[in-house]
Amino acid sequence: MKDRNLRVVVLGAGMAGMLATIKLREAGFDQLALYEKADNVGGTWRENTYPGLTCDVPSHHYTYTFERNPGWTRHLPPGVEVQGYFQHVFAKYGLAEVTRFGEEVTEACFDNGRWHLRCRSGLEDEADIVIAATGVLHHPRLPAIDGIDSFRGALFHSARWDHSVTLEGKRVGVIGNGSTGVQIISALAGKVEHLVHFQRTAQWIMPVENGHFSPEERQAFEDPAVLEEAMDFAGYNASVDAYTQAIIDEESEGAKGIAAACFGNLEQSVTDPDLREKLRPDHKPLCKRLVFSPDYYQAIQHPQSQLVTEDIASIEEDGIRTQDGVLHELDVIVFATGFDASAFMRPITVTGRDGKSLDAFWADHPKAYYAISMPDFPNFFMLNGPNGPVGNFSLIDIAEHQWHYIAQLIEKISAGDADELCCKAEALRDFEQRRTEAARETVWFKGGCTSWYLDSRGIPASWPWTYSTFVDAMNEPQWADFELR
Ligand code: NAP
Repeated sequence: MKDRNLRVVVLGAGMAGMLATIKLREAGFDQLALYEKADNVGGTWRENTYPGLTCDVPSHHYTYTFERNPGWTRHLPPGVEVQGYFQHVFAKYGLAEVTRFGEEVTEACFDNGRWHLRCRSGLEDEADIVIAATGVLHHPRLPAIDGIDSFRGALFHSARWDHSVTLEGKRVGVIGNGSTGVQIISALAGKVEHLVHFQRTAQWIMPVENGHFSPEERQAFEDPAVLEEAMDFAGYNASVDAYTQAIIDEESEGAKGIAAACFGNLEQSVTDPDLREKLRPDHKPLCKRLVFSPDYYQAIQHPQSQLVTEDIASIEEDGIRTQDGVLHELDVIVFATGFDASAFMRPITVTGRDGKSLDAFWADHPKAYYAISMPDFPNFFMLNGPNGPVGNFSLIDIAEHQWHYIAQLIEKISAGDADELCCKAEALRDFEQRRTEAARETVWFKGGCTSWYLDSRGIPASWPWTYSTFVDAMNEPQWADFELR
């Protein structure tokens, strides 16, 4: 790939930043730096350490294609194994040589044909190309509930778990029932004195099995052919395509199958009719990101568990008071209340050509041509950027396809065909119009719910077409949509 001796800086040593760095090194780029604000790799898997943390994408499909892991112990990998996997990849590919831990890039400014970077520490650097791989769900969201500061017990967000707090023998409240809240409840049920789950909106729960791989299976998976056959990677991708088809077509077989599985799970798993009705969502399955769980319904029916569906009025010294006036006395409150999904790259100040501010450019909502490039931000490319595919599938796979595309952009610059390369403004406008129109046809928009998929205007911010449409789009850039200077 490499002809000119370009300096490339990658922001973020999570899954996507590591991918970019590995691929750049393979392509011969030796003027590389990978900046990471923390002191370890892993991104979301480093930051989330809550009890029950599990990836709900099957382990062998949540793996770089070039670095399979025969050793996954379970069908769905525990978070600690995922983090261990990324640390293994980091070591195996010698990424320490180019990584600067504890350096948070806070400014990126394009001036005189190059990106000028500054870190919080004051460290400065320059780059011909910047790859932003700063993650999607990165900034915890703590709702402004009255009295939040008055609570005398321990209170923290799921992504900032306080492991110094012992939960045994305690009364624990968990706010939120997205994938995170459901996993926490499943892990804590029966292990604390009293567990209260505060549910604002019921969720559809997709049943899933989470068996162990036997030592014999793990041994056999050392052979790539055995692993390939057992995991049927192509078949899995077909199921991802059916899932994305279900998002855009509620009459599709996939949508009907998912809905039937969720309805059946609720009916068969919850015995008390009152509890069952409280757990029955009033929106369509898939409207919110689908929650997969092998054991949530069992956990919430545990004698020491309680589901509270009254809205929260306030937090007081001794617990949470709901709108019906009841005080739920608690020792610990966990906010499984999600993330600010629109805070891409924040708080980095990014300034493009002619002083163009990213904050101003994104004032209404974050947007990028095919989630990768922005006009007037030349040689600045994003992995898992705004409006890319996010859902119940592997973001590693998504990033690999995006890298295939970005590598072709870099190749143009490297070959000397352009010094500055970014999408044209009209190409982004056209993409945004098509994307927004398609987004209004999805179940995220029409399914009768709100979720973090929606932007500040209420429009779904995620890729609104099928997985195979995405794979095709990432195959080769439409060069007419790019400006090469
Ligand atoms: P989330 O899906 O955004 O869920 C936030 C929850 O907090 C919702 O139940 C929401 O209720 C509730 N909530 C927010 N503000 C509230 C308030 N003021 N009062 C009461 N309830 C409130 O967040 P998440 O569960 O952390 O998951 C975020 C995403 O992370 C997932 O969708 C997924 O993409 C990813 N994730 C993945 C895995 C995995 O296994 N791969 C695991 C965990 C997370 P409403 O529904 O009423 O808004």
